[in-house]
Parts: sequence; C-alpha cells; structure tokens
Amino acid sequence: MANCECLEKCPFFNDKMADNDGLCSMYKTKFCQGDFAGCARYMIFKKLGKESVPKDLYPNMTERAQKILAV
Ligand code: SF4
Repeated sequence: MANCECLEKCPFFNDKMADNDGLCSMYKTKFCQGDFAGCARYMIFKKLGKESVPKDLYPNMTERAQKILAV
C-alpha cells in the first residue's frame, strides 16, 4: 500500500492532534499508509486545498468532510 502524499506535513500523522480515543495509530495504518483516498482530511485537501482542512478533522470523519465538500 502507498503512503499518503501529505504524510510528512500532516498534523494528524505527526501527532499534533489529540488521541482521545486511542485510535490514532490504527487510523495511521488504515488511512495514512493505506487507503488515504478514503481519509476525510485527504478528501478536502484534494478538492479544496490544505488551507480548507479543519484543524480538528480526523481521518474517519468522512461524513463531515462530505458536508464541507457539498457546500
Ligand atoms: S491519510 Fe489523511 S490523516 Fe493521513 S497523512 Fe494523509 S491527509 Fe493526513
């Protein structure tokens, strides 16, 4: 599986976001080093640019990402 192109600078991947539920390492494997096209942050990055990615958006929050993209 390929790594996400955002990986080096992504705040999520670089532990700049809280890991309240302890699932971050699972998301890193699942999204950042695998299905990055399915990551909520990546979806917004690709369509709207990195400035539009909310600071508190986690990779699994695809519903929220779709609402942002639908506006
Ligand atoms: S998959 Fe999502 S969370 Fe992971 S590095 Fe890429 S944009 Fe960041």
